[in-house]
Amino acid sequence: MSNNIGILNYNKNQLIKLFNNIGLPKFRATQVLDWIYNIGCKSFHDMTNIGKELIDILNNNYYIYRPTIVKTDKSIDGTIKFLLQLKDNNTIETVFIPETNRNTICISSQVGCAVGCKFCNTGYNGFKRNLNAEEIVSQVLIVKDYLNSWTIQKNIITNIVVMGMGEPLFNWNNVSIALENLQIGNTQKISTKHITVSTSGIVPVLSKIINNFDYNLAISLHAPTNEIRSCIMPINNLYPLNDLLNTCKIYNKLHNKLITFEYLMLDEINDSERHAKQLIKLLHGIKCKVNLIKFNSWEGDIYTGSSMNKIEQFCKILNKSGITSTIRCSKGQDIMAACGQLQSQNK
Ligand code: SAH
Ligand code: SF4
Repeated sequence: MSNNIGILNYNKNQLIKLFNNIGLPKFRATQVLDWIYNIGCKSFHDMTNIGKELIDILNNNYYIYRPTIVKTDKSIDGTIKFLLQLKDNNTIETVFIPETNRNTICISSQVGCAVGCKFCNTGYNGFKRNLNAEEIVSQVLIVKDYLNSWTIQKNIITNIVVMGMGEPLFNWNNVSIALENLQIGNTQKISTKHITVSTSGIVPVLSKIINNFDYNLAISLHAPTNEIRSCIMPINNLYPLNDLLNTCKIYNKLHNKLITFEYLMLDEINDSERHAKQLIKLLHGIKCKVNLIKFNSWEGDIYTGSSMNKIEQFCKILNKSGITSTIRCSKGQDIMAACGQLQSQNK
């Protein structure tokens, strides 16, 4: 028998069923998951409390996945960008971002992206394939391995953002299994309060999952009108603002949480006082905050980022109207680690 089943591809309930099929009780699945997600075990041989018989069964059937670290880039601000190679030689990027009160990891959900936003390097390079659950969750596990952070004292990853390469709602099955598994156990658990999923606004998927969507929601809005948004994000032709914002209102009602709207500041495109006023009107009635993002340029891009002066002015107008607004300056700029521009340097 070959050990060809990736155990990280299953959530707890699925694993309990698999174990049940071969006559193993529920608590065995719980034990194994604890070794994997709380202790960071990469080999079944190290699981000292499950018995030799079970170790043999697991070894004969399953493996615990890790990608290969091809390259790491460290920024002067402490941000570390990991280039990870998958079994089929495709590569993805994961970024570790240390801050004063928290440490965030930004993970990818797909190889490439099919959404094709005009300002985005990942979109420009096109779509290759979905990541499976083990390829998603192992981005967090391998960064923990690398940082040697598997003990309680050293558990340094506090937040997760699904803002790397790809559109998570186009791969929601696998993304949600991965996020569920990161909440296993006590010592290394990352609670849903500290997990944010960012989407370009795939309305039918969002509507379908919204009831059970306990994560923080970030929407890549980037424009105050359909006309502008469709121009920079063609997906808006399929799922226009009205539909998207109605779904946001449902999220507000169900979860009583603020939605973060990401708004990329593009010179002469969406950054004037008029645009700010249109945005205020658009977001009326939605519990939200707005994150103004500085454009990261990349080779071949067609936009210019707004000046800091303009961004600050825009921010002031929003805040004055009562919409909390902050300016996000990307970390790790010197190593091109900004979300939305991953994967460019290595092409
Ligand atoms: N596909 C999802 C998540 C990944 S993109 C989404 O679009 O939300 C993560 C964030 O980076 C998005 O808000 C995206 O709009 C932004 N982004 C893309 N290209 C960028 C660039 N060149 N500069 C700054 N932010 C960018
Ligand atoms: Fe895809 Fe997000 Fe980039 Fe748009 S911004 S192309 S959805 S990764």
